[in-house]
Amino acid sequence: MSKEWIERGKNVIMNTYSQFPMALVKGKGVYVWDADNNKYLDFVAGIAVNALGYGDPDYIKNISEQVSKLQHVSNLYWMPPSIELAEILTDNSCFDKVFFCNSGAEAVEAAIKLCKKYGYVKKGKDCNEIITMKKSFHGRTMTTLAATGQKKYQKGFTPVTSGFSYAEFNNFEDLNNKVTENTCGIIIEPIQGEGGINVANKIYLQKVRKLCDEKDIVLVYDEVQCGIGRTGKLFAYEISGVKPDVVSLAKGLGGGFPIGAMLAIQSKAEALKPGEHASTFGGNPLACTAAKTVLDKLLKHGILENVQKQGEYLTKKLVELQKKFNFIVDIRGNGLIQGIEFKSKGKEIKIKDIVVKCMEKGLLLVGAGENTIRFVPPLIIAKEHIDEGLEILENVLKEYQ
Ligand code: PLP
Repeated sequence: MSKEWIERGKNVIMNTYSQFPMALVKGKGVYVWDADNNKYLDFVAGIAVNALGYGDPDYIKNISEQVSKLQHVSNLYWMPPSIELAEILTDNSCFDKVFFCNSGAEAVEAAIKLCKKYGYVKKGKDCNEIITMKKSFHGRTMTTLAATGQKKYQKGFTPVTSGFSYAEFNNFEDLNNKVTENTCGIIIEPIQGEGGINVANKIYLQKVRKLCDEKDIVLVYDEVQCGIGRTGKLFAYEISGVKPDVVSLAKGLGGGFPIGAMLAIQSKAEALKPGEHASTFGGNPLACTAAKTVLDKLLKHGILENVQKQGEYLTKKLVELQKKFNFIVDIRGNGLIQGIEFKSKGKEIKIKDIVVKCMEKGLLLVGAGENTIRFVPPLIIAKEHIDEGLEILENVLKEYQ
């Protein structure tokens, strides 16, 4: 029973999340079930994590086989699954080298260390400043919190790591004005996830790329949320065609198994030397086997194509929805990372209320930014699931008309 789990959870789980009153116990395909056997269509997917949905037979088989062979050793030794995974990632991207870790925050943290070390080597110890974007989200460690361009996350935890400044997203002039001789890195999410599904425009990114080349600044894309197939391309940078020097990945990479990665082009990767960065679990054979399975399915079994197809269909359906409800003010995103923004003034529309009402009718959704509902379903989703989910949402929105 969900009720029992909630009571036990409240006793022992630290109160840092405001969980909805339900305990999820199993999943199959794009559906999950709670402890009372209620079924939900899952448009959250562990917040853009469960790329293959639930119960993929190859995912289960490959991880099971690996756990029976070798679950973990250490980066004191070479580990074949991490080498194979790094080969797949570099063969299918503009990057040359990979550092493995366990989460998105750690992947961004690694990228920050790389920027600082690159600046130190190239221009000296004062070259250690990093510019990130307003409304960005990069994680909850003290340094990724500092990188996150939203003051609300830093409240109560200051002083956070120094050396960060924040530019307006998609505003080149503002960014250019903030660059100094001590700027070693610029970090951008090609699609801001937590900030409300905001897409970086191509011309802006081209200008940022040129600026970074001219000033020898490391350009980092944080693709923790928008990478690994979510846009219909393996990497989100492929949408604009503007390549970064470094990318951070996590979430969808392991399809539900914790893993993060920082990828870099050779000239930047070589800034980090042996002993300068490490993670006990980085490159763990189970996590890398999970990620290899995800990538194999995305690249060789039609999942990227499915994201493109279903992404277009989702956009079409959201445009139709917008026509029916004048309080939907914008539709943003790409592939299977899309959001609809609701009017902030006038009739009071609370994202959380909509999410709860949809949940009661069997659809899981998650908010983003101030007034946006985000759609980040498993990448295996089909047309009928989109129809089913949007019908539930439409019925809920009718209550606000
Ligand atoms: N970067 C981005 C763009 C994210 O969306 C997130 C999490 O939402 C993170 C970093 C942090 O990832 P994690 O929660 O795995 O530490």
